[in-house]
Amino acid sequence: MNIYAAPVYKLEELNNLFIELTAKNCNQRCKNCYIDFPINNKNLKDFISIDRIKEALQDTKCENIHCIYFTGAEPMTHPDFNSILRLCLKKSNVCICTNGSFLNEKKVRFLKKVEDEGVNQIFIKLSLCHFDELENDKIKYRGSFRQTIFALKTLDRYNFTSVLTIQNFYNLEKNLIIEMFNKIFCEQKISNTDLQIISNYPNFEEHNYSMPSSKTDCMFGRILTNNGVYTCPFLSNDYRGRVGSSFKDFSKIISAETDFCATCSKNNGFMFTIGE
Ligand code: SF4
Ligand code: SF4
Repeated sequence: MNIYAAPVYKLEELNNLFIELTAKNCNQRCKNCYIDFPINNKNLKDFISIDRIKEALQDTKCENIHCIYFTGAEPMTHPDFNSILRLCLKKSNVCICTNGSFLNEKKVRFLKKVEDEGVNQIFIKLSLCHFDELENDKIKYRGSFRQTIFALKTLDRYNFTSVLTIQNFYNLEKNLIIEMFNKIFCEQKISNTDLQIISNYPNFEEHNYSMPSSKTDCMFGRILTNNGVYTCPFLSNDYRGRVGSSFKDFSKIISAETDFCATCSKNNGFMFTIGE
């Protein structure tokens, strides 16, 4: 008999504070996006308030936060993005998880100016699905590949460290992905970008859920959204990942029983957190 037991993960230390700046506002529509966008979101105002972020920073002031991550949908659509960035940078490093479409020369220069006002660093996280432009744009959106490479080049000119996540939907050999992207970085003169390769989501039926991962994002982080505190960006606003209404009182234990958790288990490493 196949007895199913999901692994249980405990928050070891709150090193990573993810903040979902908006759940549904994005200026793109990737074919592979898991967000269920409303048909008409012209007046959608689901942006998290600065007051809520201030409260979270106050509640976590005794934690050893290494990095605050801005997530979304697209975090740079938040009307108070610049103020939130300045606020969070006073507390720790900040990593902006973005589609890159707002990263023109002017914006990147501004980010550098804000970074130079203090001691903490800004990291930028972008993503692609393939080293071939056409294959990538088939999965994301037309122009995504060029836009991302342009953003990486601009960031590089201003000495930002960026992380390029490769969502390996085509199940390509890891070494091939590394080789091809290194070639692109060389051609484009991009030298400050680290690659993070994420394996394809496993088939729900076929995956062995009971195999625990040695390192998951929920062991070192939590995400704040408009609706409360959740285990990780995968499960933000999902009742299965809800651990509390604020950082005053939240659960440190999670039973990893969703298909997203199976993806973490398969990858056996961080999916959102940058660095080792
Ligand atoms: S850029 Fe991100 S949030 Fe926007 S549609 Fe694409 S995957 Fe979804
Ligand atoms: S999906 Fe989230 S809750 Fe589940 S194992 Fe991964 S990081 Fe933890």
